[in-house]
Amino acid sequence: MYDYIIIGAGSAGCVLANRLSEDPAVKVLLLEAGGPDNKQEIHIPLAFSKLFKGPCDWTYFTEPEPQLGNRSLYWPRGKVLGGSSSINAMIYIRGHRADYDQWRDLGNPGWGYADVLPCFKKSENQEHGASEYHGASGPLHVSDLRTVNPLSDAFVQAGQEAGFQRNHDFNGASQEGFGLYQVTQDNGKRHSAAAAFLHPVMSRKNLTVRTGAHVFGIYFEGKRAAIVSFQQGNGSVQERAEREIILCAGAIGSPQLLMLSGVGPAAHLRQFDIPVACDLPGVGGNLQDHPCTGVAYECTKPVSLASAEDYSNMVRYLLFKKGPLTSNVAESGAFIKTSAGCQVPDLQFHFGVGYFVEHGFRQIKGHAFTFGATLLHPYSRGEIRLRSSNPLDAPSIRANYFADSRDMDVMLDGVKLSRALAATKAFDQYRGTELHPGPETKDDRALREHIAAFTETLYHPVGTCKMGHDAAAVVDSELRVRGVEGLRVVDASIMPAIVGGNTNAPTIMIAEKAAEMIKSRAAARPAESYAGSLASR
Ligand SMILES: Cc1cc2nc3c(=O)[nH]c(=O)nc-3n(C[C@H](O)[C@H](O)[C@H](O)COP(=O)(O)OP(=O)(O)OC[C@H]3O[C@@H](n4cnc5c(N)ncnc54)[C@H](O)[C@@H]3O)c2cc1C
Repeated sequence: MYDYIIIGAGSAGCVLANRLSEDPAVKVLLLEAGGPDNKQEIHIPLAFSKLFKGPCDWTYFTEPEPQLGNRSLYWPRGKVLGGSSSINAMIYIRGHRADYDQWRDLGNPGWGYADVLPCFKKSENQEHGASEYHGASGPLHVSDLRTVNPLSDAFVQAGQEAGFQRNHDFNGASQEGFGLYQVTQDNGKRHSAAAAFLHPVMSRKNLTVRTGAHVFGIYFEGKRAAIVSFQQGNGSVQERAEREIILCAGAIGSPQLLMLSGVGPAAHLRQFDIPVACDLPGVGGNLQDHPCTGVAYECTKPVSLASAEDYSNMVRYLLFKKGPLTSNVAESGAFIKTSAGCQVPDLQFHFGVGYFVEHGFRQIKGHAFTFGATLLHPYSRGEIRLRSSNPLDAPSIRANYFADSRDMDVMLDGVKLSRALAATKAFDQYRGTELHPGPETKDDRALREHIAAFTETLYHPVGTCKMGHDAAAVVDSELRVRGVEGLRVVDASIMPAIVGGNTNAPTIMIAEKAAEMIKSRAAARPAESYAGSLASR
């Protein structure tokens, strides 16, 4: 018997497991479909793409994307302790303050920037110490890169030459400009949500963590979510939650599990003979992601990550935790407004100090560098739907990239700007032939074709169990699933609108805030029960 059952030990699940089990009187069960996080490729920063399509990855593919030449895009998602934070690129970015004010203004009290900033600070252990914007006593290490590639410095210099400002802290007073990213690393090693929040508390007697526990569904008693059913080894196990079941399975897993449990669009569930526990039309809708298009150049000096795995670099990493193996590939970046009408940056750059095309699967001989133009506030919306009632079948993912033509227009600006940056003096000593799109690709039509052929996910799907109060909302502003009891969703899926930046830190913040809300509800329980008993007299 547990008080709380948390489904999914990813960025959000690890935070909740830590915070809820702080009270020794509360019993917490954390269920994770993947295994323990003991592969060395998880911990060596540069090795993350070696985890792609392996046992730590759900290895999803989208449906053929109509605007991308009907390509099915590969979507990695972590299936291991730490979830996607164990396979991600470690960039620590919170998004723009206006993102959270927008969430609040959509009818979600308590989610404005001023409300969520303390939650960001609570989880943070900032290398530069505490300040108005940063915390220094939280579990998550946020660090400067220990070794910065000269190409990253060239990118930042190029931005200034092109007339943009230098930004020394994208998570501080202003997001705009060019700069080096900070990363979730501790002493040159990845600091995933598992490393930061879970491992330090694994020995708590009131916290049980089960890996290899693939959850198949949630059972209701009346309207109340009461039992979680999961596969463990060859058998099926059921556990009961006395207080709450908390779904932290991510933007793909959470809507899939809700639908498998009978919570979702009724007509869709009936297609698969799933009994409807609650007709919630918004489950799986509102899918948003950041598409990214690469513009790659040969590098005329042997400075890129192509030689990162040389013997000397391995020794440097093993002995000092320094050198190119500590790189997260996209060491520098930028936030840019592409037109005077933009209130907030609508384009982000991830500048890769190597040839990073097709998630690193495509290789070339020699050295290269890659501009990754990333659309921050897409108008296009996709959806997650069931393919069958079998929990082991991956759901159907329609990202619908560029369904709204305004998204393509911003990306076109991004590709042109990549070329303008590559043409600056800062890159004179490094710039070789343009590999993609290639010098022959000149007019807008040809550039749009390049975008359709080369765009990939920047790995930030969100929004499929969105928070709000309209008909499409799945959870309320305390993240409780509407129409049922005893069930919350706490992960990237609750974002009503995607943030203008990378999504790991925002997801950790969401879980910090949820933990506070759950604890304060629990503290109020006896009074509520007393009031309830008076009311029923
Ligand atoms: C390759 C890659 C690179 C990225 N780079 C960055 C970056 O540099 N910076 C950044 O900020 N963000 C980055 N992100 C995004 C960021 O990591 C995610 O937004 C964030 O981790 C999402 O957290 P989550 O808790 O919602 O989901 P996850 O962390 O994905 O956690 C979900 C967990 O639930 C488990 N689960 C799912 N279904 C079930 C089930 N049925 N039963 C049991 N367990 C289940 C999963 O195995 C997983 O452990 C990247 C993501 C990827 C994949």
